Amino acid sequence: MICARCSQPIRRDEERKQIDHPRPTGPGLTVYVHAERCQPAPQQTTQARRFGV
Ligand SMILES: [Zn+2]
Repeated sequence: MICARCSQPIRRDEERKQIDHPRPTGPGLTVYVHAERCQPAPQQTTQARRFGV
């Protein structure tokens, strides 16, 4: 899976944090970010910004 904050892959053995993001329309969305604070991707921060991570 891809980290929604830094856009880097999250390995199976890495700690991750699940973020549920309910949407008013349609099914909710679940994204994952590294449990440890990682650097947001310099360019594609749209997701991170949207999810407040
Ligand atoms: Zn990350």
